[in-house]
Amino acid sequence: MKLTRSRTLQQRAEKLLPGGVDSPVRAFRAVGGEPPFVVHGEGAFLWDEDGNRYIDYFGSWGPMILGHAFPPAVEAIQQAAGRSASFGASTAAEGDLAELVVKAFPSIEKLRFVSSGTEATMSAIRLARAFTGRKYVIKFEGCYHGHSDGLLVKAGSGVATFGIPGSAGVPEEIAGLTLALPFNDIDAVQAAFAKYKNQIACIILEPVVGNAGTIAPAEGYLEALRAITTLEGSLLIFDEVMTGFRLALGGAQELYRILPDLTTLGKIVGGGLPCAAFGGRAEIINMLAPLGPVYQAGTLSGNPLAMAAGIATVGHLIAHRAEVYSQLESMSEAVAEGVAVEAAKAGVALTTNRVGAMWTWFFTAEPVTDFATAAASDTAAFARFHRAMLEQGVWLPCSQYEAVFLSTAHTIENLEQTIQAAKAAFAAVAES
Ligand code: PMP
Repeated sequence: MKLTRSRTLQQRAEKLLPGGVDSPVRAFRAVGGEPPFVVHGEGAFLWDEDGNRYIDYFGSWGPMILGHAFPPAVEAIQQAAGRSASFGASTAAEGDLAELVVKAFPSIEKLRFVSSGTEATMSAIRLARAFTGRKYVIKFEGCYHGHSDGLLVKAGSGVATFGIPGSAGVPEEIAGLTLALPFNDIDAVQAAFAKYKNQIACIILEPVVGNAGTIAPAEGYLEALRAITTLEGSLLIFDEVMTGFRLALGGAQELYRILPDLTTLGKIVGGGLPCAAFGGRAEIINMLAPLGPVYQAGTLSGNPLAMAAGIATVGHLIAHRAEVYSQLESMSEAVAEGVAVEAAKAGVALTTNRVGAMWTWFFTAEPVTDFATAAASDTAAFARFHRAMLEQGVWLPCSQYEAVFLSTAHTIENLEQTIQAAKAAFAAVAES
Protein backbone atom coordinates (compact mmCIF):
# COMPACT_ATOMS: atom_id res chain seq x y z
CA MET A 1 0.00 0.00 0.00
CA LYS A 2 1.42 3.35 -1.08
CA LEU A 3 0.75 6.47 0.96
CA THR A 4 2.92 8.88 -1.03
CA ARG A 5 0.43 11.70 -1.45
CA SER A 6 -0.93 11.27 2.06
CA ARG A 7 2.64 11.57 3.40
CA THR A 8 3.21 14.83 1.53
CA LEU A 9 -0.10 16.21 2.74
CA GLN A 10 0.69 15.15 6.32
CA GLN A 11 4.05 16.94 6.15
CA ARG A 12 2.34 20.15 5.00
CA ALA A 13 -0.40 19.74 7.63
CA GLU A 14 2.17 19.33 10.42
CA LYS A 15 3.57 22.79 9.63
CA LEU A 16 0.15 24.37 9.99
CA LEU A 17 -1.93 22.26 12.40
CA PRO A 18 -0.66 20.75 15.68
CA GLY A 19 0.14 17.11 14.92
CA GLY A 20 -1.22 17.80 11.44
CA VAL A 21 -4.77 17.29 12.73
CA ASP A 22 -7.86 19.04 14.07
CA SER A 23 -8.68 16.26 16.52
CA PRO A 24 -5.89 14.32 18.28
CA VAL A 25 -6.64 10.63 17.63
CA ARG A 26 -6.63 11.19 13.86
CA ALA A 27 -2.84 11.53 14.02
CA PHE A 28 -2.42 7.73 14.41
CA ARG A 29 0.07 8.28 17.26
CA ALA A 30 -1.33 5.35 19.26
CA VAL A 31 -0.98 2.82 16.47
CA GLY A 32 1.99 4.24 14.60
CA GLY A 33 2.17 4.37 10.84
CA GLU A 34 0.92 7.11 8.61
CA PRO A 35 -2.65 8.40 8.49
CA PRO A 36 -4.20 8.14 5.03
CA PHE A 37 -5.78 11.40 3.77
CA VAL A 38 -9.33 10.72 2.65
CA VAL A 39 -10.80 12.06 -0.58
CA HIS A 40 -14.05 10.21 -0.94
CA GLY A 41 -16.46 7.89 0.85
CA GLU A 42 -19.33 5.84 -0.47
CA GLY A 43 -21.37 3.28 1.46
CA ALA A 44 -18.98 1.20 3.57
CA PHE A 45 -15.85 2.40 1.73
CA LEU A 46 -13.29 5.17 2.01
CA TRP A 47 -10.74 6.08 -0.68
CA ASP A 48 -7.51 7.91 0.10
CA GLU A 49 -5.35 10.36 -1.86
CA ASP A 50 -3.23 7.52 -3.27
CA GLY A 51 -6.25 5.62 -4.58
CA ASN A 52 -6.28 2.97 -1.81
CA ARG A 53 -9.71 1.69 -0.83
CA TYR A 54 -10.68 0.73 2.73
CA ILE A 55 -13.68 -0.89 4.41
CA ASP A 56 -14.57 1.73 7.00
CA TYR A 57 -15.16 0.55 10.58
CA PHE A 58 -15.17 3.92 12.33
CA GLY A 59 -17.84 5.75 10.31
CA SER A 60 -16.58 9.25 11.16
CA TRP A 61 -16.50 8.01 14.80
CA GLY A 62 -20.18 7.14 14.75
CA PRO A 63 -22.39 9.35 12.59
CA MET A 64 -22.34 7.38 9.33
CA ILE A 65 -24.77 4.62 10.39
CA LEU A 66 -26.30 4.56 6.89
CA GLY A 67 -22.91 4.59 5.16
CA HIS A 68 -21.10 7.41 3.39
CA ALA A 69 -22.84 9.69 0.92
CA PHE A 70 -26.26 8.21 1.75
CA PRO A 71 -28.19 9.50 -1.30
CA PRO A 72 -31.23 11.02 0.49
CA ALA A 73 -28.89 12.89 2.87
CA VAL A 74 -26.70 14.14 0.00
CA GLU A 75 -29.75 15.42 -1.84
CA ALA A 76 -31.21 17.09 1.25
CA ILE A 77 -27.91 18.82 2.01
CA GLN A 78 -27.55 20.01 -1.60
CA GLN A 79 -31.06 21.42 -1.64
CA ALA A 80 -30.58 23.18 1.70
CA ALA A 81 -27.24 24.60 0.54
CA GLY A 82 -28.93 26.06 -2.53
CA ARG A 83 -31.25 28.02 -0.22
CA SER A 84 -28.22 29.44 1.76
CA ALA A 85 -25.99 27.78 4.30
CA SER A 86 -27.16 29.76 7.33
CA PHE A 87 -29.67 32.42 8.38
CA GLY A 88 -29.33 32.89 12.13
CA ALA A 89 -33.13 32.89 12.18
CA SER A 90 -35.66 30.13 12.80
CA THR A 91 -36.49 27.54 10.14
CA ALA A 92 -39.13 24.82 9.92
CA ALA A 93 -36.38 22.19 9.74
CA GLU A 94 -35.50 22.68 13.43
CA GLY A 95 -39.03 21.72 14.47
CA ASP A 96 -39.03 18.86 11.95
CA LEU A 97 -35.87 17.29 13.40
CA ALA A 98 -36.99 18.04 16.98
CA GLU A 99 -40.23 16.12 16.32
CA LEU A 100 -38.25 13.12 15.09
CA VAL A 101 -35.95 13.19 18.13
CA VAL A 102 -38.89 13.40 20.56
CA LYS A 103 -40.56 10.49 18.74
CA ALA A 104 -37.42 8.34 19.09
CA PHE A 105 -36.62 9.29 22.72
CA PRO A 106 -39.64 9.20 25.06
CA SER A 107 -37.61 10.79 27.89
CA ILE A 108 -37.10 13.94 25.78
CA GLU A 109 -40.02 16.37 25.92
CA LYS A 110 -38.05 19.38 24.73
CA LEU A 111 -34.55 19.89 23.39
CA ARG A 112 -32.07 22.38 22.05
CA PHE A 113 -29.76 21.88 19.08
CA VAL A 114 -26.08 22.76 19.30
CA SER A 115 -23.13 22.07 17.00
CA SER A 116 -21.04 19.49 18.89
CA GLY A 117 -21.32 16.83 21.56
CA THR A 118 -18.99 18.92 23.71
CA GLU A 119 -21.49 21.77 23.75
CA ALA A 120 -24.36 19.39 24.47
CA THR A 121 -22.79 17.84 27.58
CA MET A 122 -21.35 21.14 28.83
CA SER A 123 -24.79 22.75 28.58
CA ALA A 124 -26.57 19.76 30.14
CA ILE A 125 -24.26 20.02 33.17
CA ARG A 126 -24.95 23.76 33.46
CA LEU A 127 -28.68 23.05 33.42
CA ALA A 128 -28.33 20.30 36.04
CA ARG A 129 -26.43 22.67 38.34
CA ALA A 130 -29.00 25.41 37.86
CA PHE A 131 -31.95 23.06 38.37
CA THR A 132 -30.59 21.49 41.56
CA GLY A 133 -28.65 24.46 42.93
CA ARG A 134 -25.71 22.09 43.56
CA LYS A 135 -22.21 22.11 42.15
CA TYR A 136 -20.58 18.64 42.16
CA VAL A 137 -20.78 16.32 39.16
CA ILE A 138 -20.17 12.56 39.13
CA LYS A 139 -18.62 11.11 36.01
CA PHE A 140 -16.91 7.78 35.39
CA GLU A 141 -13.29 6.94 34.60
CA GLY A 142 -12.84 6.29 30.90
CA CYS A 143 -16.07 8.01 29.86
CA TYR A 144 -15.52 10.87 27.45
CA HIS A 145 -18.04 13.69 27.28
CA GLY A 146 -16.22 16.15 25.05
CA HIS A 147 -13.51 18.58 26.03
CA SER A 148 -15.17 21.16 28.31
CA ASP A 149 -12.99 21.91 31.35
CA GLY A 150 -14.87 19.97 34.04
CA LEU A 151 -15.42 16.88 31.92
CA LEU A 152 -11.81 16.15 31.00
CA VAL A 153 -11.11 14.61 34.42
CA LYS A 154 -10.07 10.94 33.94
CA ALA A 155 -11.64 10.97 30.49
CA GLY A 156 -11.60 8.33 27.79
CA SER A 157 -11.03 8.54 24.02
CA GLY A 158 -7.89 10.51 23.08
CA VAL A 159 -7.34 11.57 26.70
CA ALA A 160 -6.92 7.89 27.62
CA THR A 161 -5.08 7.02 24.40
CA PHE A 162 -2.40 9.62 25.10
CA GLY A 163 -2.29 8.91 28.84
CA ILE A 164 -3.21 12.49 29.79
CA PRO A 165 -4.44 12.33 33.42
CA GLY A 166 -6.63 15.41 33.19
CA SER A 167 -5.65 18.29 31.03
CA ALA A 168 -3.19 21.14 31.33
CA GLY A 169 -5.09 24.40 31.39
CA VAL A 170 -7.92 23.16 33.61
CA PRO A 171 -7.66 24.85 37.03
CA GLU A 172 -7.83 22.43 39.98
CA GLU A 173 -10.76 24.41 41.40
CA ILE A 174 -12.77 23.40 38.34
CA ALA A 175 -11.47 19.81 38.12
CA GLY A 176 -12.21 19.44 41.85
CA LEU A 177 -15.93 19.80 41.21
CA THR A 178 -15.89 16.61 39.13
CA LEU A 179 -15.92 13.35 41.07
CA ALA A 180 -14.52 10.63 38.78
CA LEU A 181 -15.54 7.15 39.93
CA PRO A 182 -14.96 3.65 38.53
CA PHE A 183 -17.68 2.51 36.09
CA ASN A 184 -19.93 -0.41 37.10
CA ASP A 185 -19.24 0.14 40.82
CA ILE A 186 -22.41 1.22 42.61
CA ASP A 187 -20.72 1.22 46.03
CA ALA A 188 -18.42 4.02 44.85
CA VAL A 189 -21.47 6.06 43.84
CA GLN A 190 -23.18 5.47 47.18
CA ALA A 191 -20.02 6.53 49.02
CA ALA A 192 -19.81 9.74 46.98
CA PHE A 193 -23.43 10.63 47.74
CA ALA A 194 -22.80 9.99 51.45
CA LYS A 195 -19.69 12.18 51.47
CA TYR A 196 -21.15 15.04 49.40
CA LYS A 197 -24.67 14.97 50.90
CA ASN A 198 -27.03 17.32 49.00
CA GLN A 199 -24.16 18.70 46.92
CA ILE A 200 -24.24 16.46 43.84
CA ALA A 201 -26.06 18.04 40.91
CA CYS A 202 -25.94 15.09 38.57
CA ILE A 203 -24.41 11.87 37.36
CA ILE A 204 -23.35 11.95 33.72
CA LEU A 205 -22.39 8.73 31.95
CA GLU A 206 -22.16 6.91 28.68
CA PRO A 207 -24.79 4.24 29.47
CA VAL A 208 -22.78 1.87 27.30
CA VAL A 209 -19.22 3.17 27.39
CA GLY A 210 -17.62 3.62 23.98
CA ASN A 211 -14.70 5.88 24.79
CA ALA A 212 -12.70 3.41 26.89
CA GLY A 213 -13.48 0.88 24.19
CA THR A 214 -16.93 -0.68 24.48
CA ILE A 215 -18.06 -1.57 28.02
CA ALA A 216 -21.62 -2.63 28.80
CA PRO A 217 -23.30 -1.70 32.08
CA ALA A 218 -23.44 -4.59 34.56
CA GLU A 219 -26.90 -5.99 35.19
CA GLY A 220 -28.84 -3.64 37.44
CA TYR A 221 -26.20 -0.89 37.32
CA LEU A 222 -28.23 1.66 35.33
CA GLU A 223 -31.31 0.91 37.45
CA ALA A 224 -29.26 1.54 40.58
CA LEU A 225 -27.98 4.87 39.20
CA ARG A 226 -31.57 5.85 38.35
CA ALA A 227 -32.73 4.95 41.86
CA ILE A 228 -29.96 6.74 43.74
CA THR A 229 -30.24 9.97 41.72
CA THR A 230 -34.01 10.05 42.27
CA LEU A 231 -33.57 9.40 45.99
CA GLU A 232 -30.88 12.05 46.37
CA GLY A 233 -32.57 14.73 44.25
CA SER A 234 -29.80 14.68 41.61
CA LEU A 235 -30.27 14.47 37.87
CA LEU A 236 -29.30 11.48 35.76
CA ILE A 237 -27.76 12.48 32.43
CA PHE A 238 -27.30 9.86 29.73
CA ASP A 239 -24.65 10.98 27.27
CA GLU A 240 -25.97 9.20 24.18
CA VAL A 241 -23.82 11.15 21.71
CA MET A 242 -22.41 7.78 20.60
CA THR A 243 -25.18 5.34 21.56
CA GLY A 244 -28.22 7.40 20.52
CA PHE A 245 -29.84 6.02 17.34
CA ARG A 246 -27.08 3.36 17.26
CA LEU A 247 -27.87 0.69 19.87
CA ALA A 248 -31.56 1.12 19.15
CA LEU A 249 -33.57 3.95 17.65
CA GLY A 250 -34.04 5.32 21.17
CA GLY A 251 -30.45 4.56 22.18
CA ALA A 252 -29.29 2.80 25.33
CA GLN A 253 -32.27 4.13 27.27
CA GLU A 254 -34.59 2.15 24.99
CA LEU A 255 -32.42 -0.96 25.18
CA TYR A 256 -32.12 -0.93 28.98
CA ARG A 257 -35.54 0.71 29.63
CA ILE A 258 -34.30 3.57 31.80
CA LEU A 259 -35.62 7.13 31.60
CA PRO A 260 -32.85 9.65 32.35
CA ASP A 261 -33.68 13.26 33.27
CA LEU A 262 -31.49 14.68 30.50
CA THR A 263 -30.03 13.15 27.36
CA THR A 264 -27.27 14.40 25.10
CA LEU A 265 -27.17 13.43 21.45
CA GLY A 266 -24.67 14.03 18.64
CA LYS A 267 -23.07 12.19 15.75
CA ILE A 268 -26.02 10.35 14.05
CA VAL A 269 -28.53 13.12 14.86
CA GLY A 270 -26.70 15.36 12.37
CA GLY A 271 -26.01 12.70 9.75
CA GLY A 272 -22.32 13.67 9.63
CA LEU A 273 -22.78 17.44 9.80
CA PRO A 274 -21.92 19.49 12.90
CA CYS A 275 -25.02 18.97 14.99
CA ALA A 276 -25.81 17.74 18.50
CA ALA A 277 -28.60 18.24 21.00
CA PHE A 278 -29.50 18.08 24.66
CA GLY A 279 -33.00 17.48 25.88
CA GLY A 280 -35.18 16.04 28.60
CA ARG A 281 -38.05 16.93 30.88
CA ALA A 282 -39.71 20.22 29.91
CA GLU A 283 -39.46 21.68 33.42
CA ILE A 284 -35.67 21.39 33.22
CA ILE A 285 -35.22 22.47 29.58
CA ASN A 286 -37.48 25.50 30.15
CA MET A 287 -34.80 26.92 32.43
CA LEU A 288 -32.85 27.84 29.28
CA ALA A 289 -32.88 31.43 27.99
CA PRO A 290 -35.06 33.03 26.70
CA LEU A 291 -37.53 31.29 29.06
CA GLY A 292 -35.24 30.95 32.05
CA PRO A 293 -31.99 32.08 33.66
CA VAL A 294 -29.56 29.51 32.15
CA TYR A 295 -27.70 31.03 29.24
CA GLN A 296 -26.76 28.99 26.19
CA ALA A 297 -26.59 30.06 22.54
CA GLY A 298 -24.98 29.40 19.14
CA THR A 299 -24.56 31.32 15.87
CA LEU A 300 -24.77 28.09 13.87
CA SER A 301 -27.07 26.13 16.21
CA GLY A 302 -29.88 24.42 14.27
CA ASN A 303 -27.93 25.07 11.06
CA PRO A 304 -30.11 24.35 8.00
CA LEU A 305 -27.61 21.98 6.34
CA ALA A 306 -27.15 20.02 9.57
CA MET A 307 -30.92 19.84 10.09
CA ALA A 308 -31.39 18.59 6.52
CA ALA A 309 -28.80 15.82 6.96
CA GLY A 310 -30.27 14.93 10.37
CA ILE A 311 -33.84 14.74 9.07
CA ALA A 312 -32.78 12.52 6.16
CA THR A 313 -30.80 10.21 8.45
CA VAL A 314 -33.11 10.00 11.48
CA GLY A 315 -36.16 9.97 9.19
CA HIS A 316 -34.77 6.88 7.47
CA LEU A 317 -34.00 5.19 10.80
CA ILE A 318 -37.54 5.80 12.03
CA ALA A 319 -39.17 4.63 8.78
CA HIS A 320 -37.06 1.45 8.55
CA ARG A 321 -36.52 0.87 12.25
CA ALA A 322 -37.16 -2.88 12.42
CA GLU A 323 -35.01 -3.83 9.39
CA VAL A 324 -32.19 -1.42 10.21
CA TYR A 325 -31.61 -2.56 13.78
CA SER A 326 -32.04 -6.27 13.13
CA GLN A 327 -29.63 -6.09 10.17
CA LEU A 328 -27.10 -4.12 12.24
CA GLU A 329 -27.33 -6.68 15.04
CA SER A 330 -26.87 -9.78 12.90
CA MET A 331 -24.14 -8.31 10.71
CA SER A 332 -22.26 -6.93 13.73
CA GLU A 333 -22.46 -10.26 15.51
CA ALA A 334 -21.15 -12.06 12.41
CA VAL A 335 -18.06 -9.90 11.99
CA ALA A 336 -17.29 -9.33 15.68
CA GLU A 337 -17.52 -13.06 16.43
CA GLY A 338 -15.88 -14.10 13.15
CA VAL A 339 -12.81 -12.06 14.01
CA ALA A 340 -12.81 -13.37 17.60
CA VAL A 341 -12.77 -16.95 16.28
CA GLU A 342 -9.68 -16.16 14.16
CA ALA A 343 -7.96 -14.70 17.24
CA ALA A 344 -8.65 -17.89 19.19
CA LYS A 345 -7.30 -20.03 16.34
CA ALA A 346 -4.13 -17.91 16.22
CA GLY A 347 -3.71 -18.12 20.00
CA VAL A 348 -4.12 -14.34 20.44
CA ALA A 349 -5.83 -13.33 23.71
CA LEU A 350 -8.89 -11.27 22.82
CA THR A 351 -11.98 -10.12 24.68
CA THR A 352 -14.84 -8.95 22.48
CA ASN A 353 -17.27 -6.50 24.09
CA ARG A 354 -20.22 -5.81 21.82
CA VAL A 355 -23.59 -4.12 22.18
CA GLY A 356 -25.39 -4.00 18.82
CA ALA A 357 -23.44 -2.23 16.07
CA MET A 358 -20.76 -1.00 18.46
CA TRP A 359 -17.93 -3.12 19.80
CA THR A 360 -14.27 -3.40 20.77
CA TRP A 361 -11.76 -6.20 20.36
CA PHE A 362 -9.65 -5.77 23.52
CA PHE A 363 -6.25 -7.44 23.39
CA THR A 364 -6.56 -9.10 26.79
CA ALA A 365 -7.76 -12.47 28.06
CA GLU A 366 -9.59 -10.90 31.03
CA PRO A 367 -13.14 -9.51 31.05
CA VAL A 368 -13.27 -5.74 30.51
CA THR A 369 -15.79 -4.08 32.83
CA ASP A 370 -14.28 -0.68 33.63
CA PHE A 371 -11.40 1.57 32.65
CA ALA A 372 -8.82 -0.28 34.79
CA THR A 373 -9.55 -3.60 33.06
CA ALA A 374 -9.62 -1.90 29.62
CA ALA A 375 -6.23 -0.35 30.37
CA ALA A 376 -4.80 -3.81 31.08
CA SER A 377 -5.05 -4.54 27.32
CA ASP A 378 -1.94 -5.07 25.24
CA THR A 379 -2.04 -1.80 23.28
CA ALA A 380 1.14 -2.70 21.40
CA ALA A 381 -0.57 -5.84 20.06
CA PHE A 382 -3.61 -3.74 19.16
CA ALA A 383 -1.34 -1.34 17.24
CA ARG A 384 0.22 -4.22 15.25
CA PHE A 385 -3.25 -5.55 14.50
CA HIS A 386 -4.46 -2.13 13.39
CA ARG A 387 -1.52 -1.65 11.02
CA ALA A 388 -1.89 -5.14 9.53
CA MET A 389 -5.61 -4.56 8.96
CA LEU A 390 -5.08 -1.16 7.35
CA GLU A 391 -2.46 -2.67 5.08
CA GLN A 392 -5.16 -5.08 3.87
CA GLY A 393 -7.73 -2.37 3.29
CA VAL A 394 -9.65 -2.52 6.59
CA TRP A 395 -9.68 0.74 8.53
CA LEU A 396 -10.43 0.25 12.24
CA PRO A 397 -10.59 3.06 14.81
CA CYS A 398 -6.96 3.93 15.54
CA SER A 399 -6.92 3.31 19.31
CA GLN A 400 -7.71 0.42 21.64
CA TYR A 401 -9.89 2.84 23.62
CA GLU A 402 -12.48 3.40 20.90
CA ALA A 403 -15.47 1.51 19.52
CA VAL A 404 -15.82 -0.10 16.10
CA PHE A 405 -18.99 0.94 14.27
CA LEU A 406 -20.92 -0.85 11.54
CA SER A 407 -23.24 0.77 9.00
CA THR A 408 -26.20 -0.57 7.05
CA ALA A 409 -24.05 -0.27 3.90
CA HIS A 410 -21.66 -3.06 5.00
CA THR A 411 -22.27 -6.27 3.03
CA ILE A 412 -21.66 -9.92 3.89
CA GLU A 413 -18.81 -9.81 1.40
CA ASN A 414 -17.21 -6.89 3.29
CA LEU A 415 -17.50 -8.86 6.52
CA GLU A 416 -15.93 -11.99 5.03
CA GLN A 417 -13.07 -9.95 3.64
CA THR A 418 -12.60 -8.41 7.09
CA ILE A 419 -12.47 -11.82 8.79
CA GLN A 420 -9.90 -13.05 6.25
CA ALA A 421 -7.83 -9.91 6.81
CA ALA A 422 -8.03 -10.49 10.57
CA LYS A 423 -6.76 -14.04 10.12
CA ALA A 424 -3.61 -12.74 8.45
CA ALA A 425 -3.31 -9.86 10.91
CA PHE A 426 -3.48 -12.18 13.96
CA ALA A 427 -0.70 -14.28 12.46
CA ALA A 428 1.39 -11.09 12.35
CA VAL A 429 0.39 -10.18 15.93
CA ALA A 430 1.24 -13.66 17.22
CA GLU A 431 4.64 -13.79 15.49
CA SER A 432 6.05 -10.54 16.81
N1 PMP B 1 -19.90 12.40 24.33
C1 PMP B 1 -19.58 11.21 23.81
C2 PMP B 1 -20.14 9.97 24.42
C3 PMP B 1 -18.72 11.15 22.70
O1 PMP B 1 -18.42 9.95 22.18
C4 PMP B 1 -18.22 12.34 22.16
C5 PMP B 1 -17.29 12.35 20.95
N2 PMP B 1 -16.73 11.19 20.58
C6 PMP B 1 -18.58 13.55 22.75
C7 PMP B 1 -19.43 13.55 23.83
C8 PMP B 1 -18.08 14.84 22.21
O2 PMP B 1 -18.66 15.14 20.98
P1 PMP B 1 -17.94 16.12 19.97
O3 PMP B 1 -16.69 15.46 19.52
O4 PMP B 1 -18.97 16.31 18.89
O5 PMP B 1 -17.68 17.40 20.71
